[in-house]
Amino acid sequence: MTTISADTLPEALGAPAREFIARTHRLLIGSERPEAADGRTFATLDPATGREIAEVAHGGAQDVARAVVAAREAFAGGSWAALPPAGRERLMLALAQALEDHAEELAQIESLDNGKPVGLAQYVDVAGTVAHLRYFAGWPTKIEGGVLPVGAPNMLCYTRREPVGVCAQIVPWNFPLLMAAWKIAPALAAGCTIVLKPAEQTPLTALRLGELALEVGFPPGVLNVLTGDGETGAALVDHPGIDKIAFTGSTAVGREIGAKAGRALKRVTLELGGKSPNVILPDADIQAAIQGSYQAIYFNSGQACNAGSRLFVPAERFDEVMGALAEQAKAARLGPGLDPQTQLGPLVSAEQRDRVMGYIDSGREQGAELLAGGEAALTDSGGYFVAPTLFSVTSDELRIAREEIFGPVLVASPYDTLEEVARRANDGEYGLAAGVWTRDVASAHRLAAMLRAGSVYVNTWGLVDPSAPFGGFKASGIGREHGHDGLSAYLETKTVWTAL
Ligand code: NAP
Ligand code: MG
Repeated sequence: MTTISADTLPEALGAPAREFIARTHRLLIGSERPEAADGRTFATLDPATGREIAEVAHGGAQDVARAVVAAREAFAGGSWAALPPAGRERLMLALAQALEDHAEELAQIESLDNGKPVGLAQYVDVAGTVAHLRYFAGWPTKIEGGVLPVGAPNMLCYTRREPVGVCAQIVPWNFPLLMAAWKIAPALAAGCTIVLKPAEQTPLTALRLGELALEVGFPPGVLNVLTGDGETGAALVDHPGIDKIAFTGSTAVGREIGAKAGRALKRVTLELGGKSPNVILPDADIQAAIQGSYQAIYFNSGQACNAGSRLFVPAERFDEVMGALAEQAKAARLGPGLDPQTQLGPLVSAEQRDRVMGYIDSGREQGAELLAGGEAALTDSGGYFVAPTLFSVTSDELRIAREEIFGPVLVASPYDTLEEVARRANDGEYGLAAGVWTRDVASAHRLAAMLRAGSVYVNTWGLVDPSAPFGGFKASGIGREHGHDGLSAYLETKTVWTAL
């Protein structure tokens, strides 16, 4: 493996993050830290400069098989599911505390690996991770079955809620640690064991998470971490020892995983893309709507599955709203995530930058009007920056108006009536999120009922909470994460009949 020297890393990193990143990054299987069986590694890059920051083991099919065996042993051997519920709670709380104790370090690692502003990493990603573990730590002691009033005489019929088993959890690069937490927390609460596969662009915080879990006393094999690429993920999905697959990522890969899960009859939850409509009504508090709509798309440089990427504005307010959004977009401060002044970091990879620029070019070619941005930015840095971009369109048929871009690109259009905007907002393959800005309670809730989306935000955007179900209608996914629904996705119901 190439050794990356700690002193070639950015100065803004504190000592703990620097020390962690400069280590050799092996897989985490059971209590061991092996290299990949075939010795392969890959580089993870700093998206703000394009420079390599670490070499990471590239797990292959043999490593997948080992990790699944470790997870199966931890599950079937009962070291996790059979722990008293309060024991699982205690360990999950201890992990949450360890993550909180390492918050600054984790935020810096995430910021360097993903590119996002370090403050966002700390107050959204790391804080959300801690909150998620604490919320789900409350569940093991509250997982109950019921006694059923069956018609057969002299019969005791009850249900047990049992963990589904070994889970493959495959997460994307936009919120690496947080997406891992959304997956592992309900699985751990339910008593499942895990093989976690972080995205190849952002493998580092998942490895730190796995290490901290072992340090606080999780039994080996409960949480295994396999770094690698899409093939690693595919081998995991295909492995017969996997009972359930949880995936967040692109719709294309989600469809493939869903089809494979269907054939193998594995349990599956999918959290996929979106092209979420954000509707400003004529009576909205226009300043709040502008601020909220700006954040809805440009937060995390537009790399959020629930980004408010389609904006609908009443025709009579259109120019005013466009003017304010364009002005703010042009003034946005782009830079490396580790610079505390940065508002928008780079995109995660050159590939993602090129994909987003491809969409921007297609918007221009198809006649959309460019009001801000439209170009790669800070190109001298070697990083993958794209200026926050605003398009005005008059047709919903353009590619930029229909397809998920997953970058800082807002597509806005005017409308005339509530019925029209509801129809247009629902016209598309996705249904992850939608938003309404209004002062009128009746319009807010009429529209909230009309919109075909898993989350509807009224006079706000993008809030998440471990107690509040999150997931998609239509091609945005299958199942829900968070809350009761999120826990249920990791439980099987068993019905026990006993003749008395
Ligand atoms: P992706 O390929 O769907 O990646 C998501 C995760 O799935 C990664 O861990 C990836 O591993 C893994 N993976 C890839 N192919 C797989 C396969 N055949 N079987 C099992 N696992 C597999 O997403 P991407 O290519 O990084 O991004 C492309 C687009 O996906 C974005 O432009 C965006 O539209 C969408 N996306 C959505 C979300 C979301 O939150 N819903 C998040 C990220 C991206 P590797 O990364 O190591 O290959
Ligand atoms: Mg990286």
